[in-house]
Amino acid sequence: MSSVQKKTDVILIGAGIMSATLGALLKELAPEWEIKVFEKLADAGEESSNEWNNAGTGHSALCELNYTSERPDGTIDISKAVKINEQFQLSRQFWSYLVKSNLIQNPQEFIMPIPHMSFVEGEKNVTFLKKRLEALSATLLFQGMEFSSDPEKLKEWIPLMMEGRTSSEPIAATKIDSGTDVNFGALTRILFNHLKRQNVHVNYKHSVENIKRSSDGTWELKVQDMEGGKIEYHTASFVFIGGGGGSLPLLQKTGIPESKQIGGFPVSGLFMVCNNPEVAAQHHAKVYGKAKVGAPPMSVPHLDTRYINNKKSLLFGPFAGFSPKFLKTGSNLDLIKSVKPNNVLTMLAAGVKEMALTKYLIGQVLLSNEKRMEELREFIPNAKAEDWDIVVAGQRVQVIKDTPAGKGTLQFGTEVVSSSDGSVAALLGASPGASTAVHVMLEVLEKCFPQRMNEWEPKIKEMVPSYGVSLEANPRLFQELLHSTAETLGLSKEQPVHS
Ligand SMILES: Cc1cc2nc3c(=O)[nH]c(=O)nc-3n(C[C@H](O)[C@H](O)[C@H](O)COP(=O)(O)OP(=O)(O)OC[C@H]3O[C@@H](n4cnc5c(N)ncnc54)[C@H](O)[C@@H]3O)c2cc1C
Repeated sequence: MSSVQKKTDVILIGAGIMSATLGALLKELAPEWEIKVFEKLADAGEESSNEWNNAGTGHSALCELNYTSERPDGTIDISKAVKINEQFQLSRQFWSYLVKSNLIQNPQEFIMPIPHMSFVEGEKNVTFLKKRLEALSATLLFQGMEFSSDPEKLKEWIPLMMEGRTSSEPIAATKIDSGTDVNFGALTRILFNHLKRQNVHVNYKHSVENIKRSSDGTWELKVQDMEGGKIEYHTASFVFIGGGGGSLPLLQKTGIPESKQIGGFPVSGLFMVCNNPEVAAQHHAKVYGKAKVGAPPMSVPHLDTRYINNKKSLLFGPFAGFSPKFLKTGSNLDLIKSVKPNNVLTMLAAGVKEMALTKYLIGQVLLSNEKRMEELREFIPNAKAEDWDIVVAGQRVQVIKDTPAGKGTLQFGTEVVSSSDGSVAALLGASPGASTAVHVMLEVLEKCFPQRMNEWEPKIKEMVPSYGVSLEANPRLFQELLHSTAETLGLSKEQPVHS
């Protein structure tokens, strides 16, 4: 049985953080527009955005060493770190706007202050960390970052990591207190509740099976109601494909020229979670290490204090791995089905080039629990196997495309792919990810609604005051916004939580 539904202004596919953010922005900019959401799972934020499926780091380049690379002359390039920090500030500002406007409540349900630290071992890495801090000190964005290689100081900062440490290798860490832990699952659910109150039609257990262009230029979606089994057809003038790992297959179905010669490379993940509250209580930071040689950037190990369900937890990982699924709830056929005549050469070229990475990921899948414990003991020398369980994290589908660097080049960032008329856009890739959702969704608006941006700009600036402004070049504005958003989001004081 099928039915034809009436036309709507906007359809958002997927109920993850990206659709949530775009919906929330559009509701402020064009409140009269009718918005429908289709999500194949039973609730919002169940895939990558779920709190157990990602690391919950508010990525602002305060601790991630892969955002600051060493140039051949030994100097440190901080441009990527500055960019990511500024992008995270946009998210903080939008979340603060929503709280201040009473559109969402209780920010401590989704964001908490936590020191962000980088930790290294070995002379070369200690020198790198010191130079990195000096380079970052050139801008106010990283103010308050401290460096120490003194074991006594490190014992104060990270007692759990220092206990039982016997290696004679030099060690060092940086620490900055303005870091955050973000529960993106909770935030996604909060945003979808807000959207429902704003009359957005959110349809769970509805899977989008096809997207095709109608003769009048709008998009017709074939949607399966997974409970009743009914097929529905919905049309919209603008469609956002926010399907996470499921975005690529949907983008391919649109047939737009921009969807060609693009492939996806799925990377799975595992975290170790501490089941001993006494151990978890001894750590209070997100501590990022250095990726092992040959390891992809998404497998940088980190030991994280997390706030999940108003409880302090301790997680280590992620261990990257290979799985052909594009979503955690996806199918083993996802990868093979994504190979099309227009991207087969791109995919094959990537396959040849990325042999070492594939081998690395397969090796990671085969790691025994004892090997994983060995990696954990590089962070917590006295870690006991019985205190740690394994949780399966979300899937990340990295984009493969032809670039000036060559055919079939693996990308580690996010990409907005849109049609030339702006009627459909998809978000591919997963890094830095949820933290930069506001920046990425503003990019979707710029690409898809260029004719409206003049009209919308004053409202965007009210919601996100540093939109279009370099905070690095405006340190006073940065400080003002950092303090005001910290105040609104409750980041300037420690929150009471149960460990
Ligand atoms: C291991 C790991 C660690 C990470 N750590 C961090 C971190 O510390 N900080 C950070 O900022 N980011 C992190 N990320 C990235 C972040 O999780 C993602 O960028 C973000 O959650 C993506 O949001 P999304 O809305 O695009 O996708 P998702 O949250 O995956 O949502 C997509 C939704 O679309 C639905 N869907 C898919 N196909 C269809 C269809 N055909 N019909 C209907 N519905 C469909 C899915 O069911 C899903 O609910 C991490 C990711 C992983 C995997």
